[in-house]
Amino acid sequence: RAKSTHGEHVCFYEARMDEVARDRRALAKDLWQAIGRNEFSVHYQVQKAVDTQEITGYEALLRWKHPERGHVSPADFIPIAEECGAILDIGEWVLRTACAEAASWHNQAKIAVNLSPVQLGHVDLVHLVHSILIETGLSPRRLELEITESTIIGDKARALHILRQIKALGVTIAIDDFGTGYSSLDTLNSFPFDKIKIDRSFLLEAEHSPQARAIIRAILALGKSLQVPVLAEGVETVTQLELLKSEGCDEAQGYYFGRPAALVPDEAGPDIRRSA
Ligand code: C2E
Ligand code: MG
Ligand code: MG
Ligand code: MG
Repeated sequence: RAKSTHGEHVCFYEARMDEVARDRRALAKDLWQAIGRNEFSVHYQVQKAVDTQEITGYEALLRWKHPERGHVSPADFIPIAEECGAILDIGEWVLRTACAEAASWHNQAKIAVNLSPVQLGHVDLVHLVHSILIETGLSPRRLELEITESTIIGDKARALHILRQIKALGVTIAIDDFGTGYSSLDTLNSFPFDKIKIDRSFLLEAEHSPQARAIIRAILALGKSLQVPVLAEGVETVTQLELLKSEGCDEAQGYYFGRPAALVPDEAGPDIRRSA
């Protein structure tokens, strides 16, 4: 009896794994066609200074409206796009679209674009960034590229070389999701970054966990001594904002200030301009 139940479980488990794999393959196939079918768009989430609440920039976040499934989260499809290689075309599309849209805004806010480690490994990224800046007319000072530490752990020397050349264009680099994944202080030591973004998970726990608060404080101290601004991700409440204020955090981003949206409010006037 017990054995047969176990057997059924294994069967069920294998069938389920099969289903997951099939689903990933189906999504990968659809991803390759998504650009041509106009299914992608870019949303923008505001970033603000913690003390003055002035706008410091916007993060570009990719959105995919699948014809049958509706909205699919980037957390679900980006890993698949990285695995099948579609991220190269998709990443280029996001960069070009975000730069072109930001160039048309009245305000001169920065635009932060996420970069996949795969893009750093497979395309001539320096050339790509340079030509998109020229093509769209966006000032390099307005472009920030967000990378995670996993971007630098592969061929470290090569990654550093590319990132230094990108910085030479006048573009800045932010470290995303800091504190999670493979962090090493050695990587930071040789790495020319301009901003640290504290992962949302720490702020989420900060109100109830002295440990999470201690980690936030340590990252802020690191930023101060390296003279690099620190941005906290995932601010949802005024309590969290007050906490960041009292700890001396430079910038913040989260639902409290605004959700990612297709529209960017134009600071230069009362009108809301379509970003597309
Ligand atoms: P990320 O770069 O760390 O982006 C921040 C994520 O946190 C976004 O999720 C954003 O919508 C969400 N977020 C912002 N504020 C809050 C908040 O107050 N509360 C909560 N619960 N969430 C908040 P999203 O848009 O679903 O993107 C997820 C991840 O997908 C991104 O994390 C990034 O790693 C990746 N991603 C998104 N767009 C791109 C892209 O164009 N290229 C690449 N390579 N990755 C992208
Ligand atoms: Mg990001
Ligand atoms: Mg992040
Ligand atoms: Mg994240």
